[in-house]
Amino acid sequence: MHVPYNSWLVALSIAVAVSVSYTAFRLAARVAEAIRPMRSYWLIGGASAMGIGIWSTHFIGMLAISMPMVLRYDIPMTVASLLIAIITSWMAIRIAGTERFGRGAVALGGLVMGGGIAAMHFLGMAAIDITPAIRYQPALVAASIIVGIGASSGALWLTFQLRGGRTARPLARLGAAVLMGLAISGTHYIGMAAASFAAHSRCYGGVALDNAWLAVTIALVTASLLGFTLMTDMYSSELAARAQAHAARLQQINAQLRYQATHDGLTGLLNRAAFLKRLAAALRAARAGAGRFAVLALDLDRFKLINDSLGHGAGDRLLCEVARRLCAMTRPGDAIARMGGDEFLVLTRPLASAEDAGAIATQIIQGLSKPLRLDSLEVLVASSIGISHYPSDGDTPEALLAHADEALYGAKRQGGRTFQCFVAQMNGFPHERLQLESDLNHALARGQFELYYQPRVDVVSARVTSVEALLRWRHPSRGPISPRTFIPIAEETGLIVPIGAWVLNEACRQARRWHSSGLSLRIAVNLSALQFRQPGLLRMIAAALAAEGLPPRLLELEITESVVMTDAASSVAILEQLSRMGVIVSVDDFGTGYSNMSYLQRFPIDRLKIDASFISAMNDDPQSTLIVQAIISLAHNLRMKVIAEGVETPAQLRRLASLGCDQYQGFLFGQPMPAEALEPQLRAHASLGDAGDTALTSARLARPAWDPGLLASNDR
Ligand code: C2E
Ligand code: MG
Ligand code: MG
Repeated sequence: MHVPYNSWLVALSIAVAVSVSYTAFRLAARVAEAIRPMRSYWLIGGASAMGIGIWSTHFIGMLAISMPMVLRYDIPMTVASLLIAIITSWMAIRIAGTERFGRGAVALGGLVMGGGIAAMHFLGMAAIDITPAIRYQPALVAASIIVGIGASSGALWLTFQLRGGRTARPLARLGAAVLMGLAISGTHYIGMAAASFAAHSRCYGGVALDNAWLAVTIALVTASLLGFTLMTDMYSSELAARAQAHAARLQQINAQLRYQATHDGLTGLLNRAAFLKRLAAALRAARAGAGRFAVLALDLDRFKLINDSLGHGAGDRLLCEVARRLCAMTRPGDAIARMGGDEFLVLTRPLASAEDAGAIATQIIQGLSKPLRLDSLEVLVASSIGISHYPSDGDTPEALLAHADEALYGAKRQGGRTFQCFVAQMNGFPHERLQLESDLNHALARGQFELYYQPRVDVVSARVTSVEALLRWRHPSRGPISPRTFIPIAEETGLIVPIGAWVLNEACRQARRWHSSGLSLRIAVNLSALQFRQPGLLRMIAAALAAEGLPPRLLELEITESVVMTDAASSVAILEQLSRMGVIVSVDDFGTGYSNMSYLQRFPIDRLKIDASFISAMNDDPQSTLIVQAIISLAHNLRMKVIAEGVETPAQLRRLASLGCDQYQGFLFGQPMPAEALEPQLRAHASLGDAGDTALTSARLARPAWDPGLLASNDR
């Protein structure tokens, strides 16, 4: 029996097949890029859209036939054919979305897709309750399946090319969609040509469908599905664009921070940290055979007088002019740094002879002694320089700097405006350092350590939320020694491990005492690099908490950026374990070390402490305010709290409040003090239930300590 077709409906069915394929390929690309759990949403959405599309193509194709009788369908079988279409699409999109997509995947995908389309088609046909049954011509059935598989493979191959970025994207995607559309409609129409209906066929049972409204309904459903998927697809591209913008901004802040971290804000010369790095590199090169070099320490004579009488503005301009002249009078390759105040350092590139350094020093002293205009005044500045040489005066950065400094004092003692090379008699350094080391060795046993505590205050409520424990060493003959002096020695000698354990236990004991007396304050303890990497760290912390029965949320650990960044992979593991314990982790001195902000996204960190140098620079350097602002907004985006360190003036606090900083710490509220001395102040300002941290604390409290399963669901 010849079956005539309605060509409009045929065209509609092919259009649906092509457009549904186009959407499915866009979604497959999303699946490839997406991360869990978005991946499964795209997969389910794409498979449903495409499955319904294939099925609609088939049905519109069926409606396009003008049959003498009304076709009646078996509903369960019809629904099964729809499910087959969806499952087939699901598998095909998964295959097209795999990361490594080669010939094997193309062939497998084509087979699945072509086979699935054919299965859907013939099951759909079987759903027609017709007597006598439809007869099929085997050759045409085979042709319909082969066309389906071939065209699907071609389409998948094209998307593969697309992924490689070698083909013009929109054209290739359209080509792939057309091929896929051909696979779907080709299978259908060749399959239909294979079918022959007996002349007096009749349909019994099943459900009859009204052609006209069915066609319209199917087309509408398909169109709205397509519209919906395209829209979500566009939304996701928009999200991706936003993420990209975020990453670009991160990179920009990074560059700013890197500059800020290595340069002096006023003069643009190197800062101390960057200079030390250069010095270490020069030492390595010299040991490897690059020969001798020198370190020049320079100080302006009478700078304080000029600064005090003409004001800070004039002093700053003077320093900038000195920096400019220093750059002009040294050679390319010499490194120049400002160490703060009116102290400068020069690291020479390799020298031919020891006398060369003296020649450079003479040139600098002469160059700086030329008159200089400040406002309407002409001022004369003079300078003194101390020189140390590698290898004769030391072979570590510390030794070379200390000796250049000693030589500088020698030059000053001679009345200034001159230079002096280091001579060995000046040297008291190694002996002194050894003495300190040996004293430090006994300090713990002799009970010379004490903890001071400095409050941290909520910027908005002005309540104390926590305190930082800061170590003090009362040396029997030298008096108090700063942790900045003895912590590096303790690190080098390994003494920091027992000392750090003492600090932790002592801090937990104090926190317990306060906790019992109704002061629920969190205590922050500094962890050194060596401590952080100790294998027994977690056990030690757990033991310290258990010994005092202190809830983990009342302990915070401060770790510097560089510690976190060295061996990032193992850091993540340690931090995650700490986070699971329920202990709070913060990054100390943020902005001074690596300044690589992108790592923050990967580490389970609760808060950032902006280094004091940024806070003090905010007064006169607008760049610093911008950086502080950027750090705060970044931290908030990553759901971290921000603490400003070293806040000394009400103006700084006001500025920080306007930037949305959460907490601050500094001399403005109080110096670090022994626990008893601090207590009255704490009672007056204690926060009710740790006001500044409520959100975080309650989220943390919901987590039982030590539950390994809760790692993924962290609340940052
Ligand atoms: P940090 O952890 O960044 O501590 C902040 C330092 O800034 C403290 O110096 C504090 O006294 C000081 N400070 C606080 N407010 C202000 C302010 O308004 N202006 C200025 N100019 N300074 C302020 P401190 O106590 O001398 O400690 C120095 C560093 O020694 C600490 O820096 C920390 O890195 C280390 N440290 C201290 N105690 C320990 C400890 O128990 N273990 C370890 N590993 N390191 C410690
Ligand atoms: Mg600290
Ligand atoms: Mg700090």
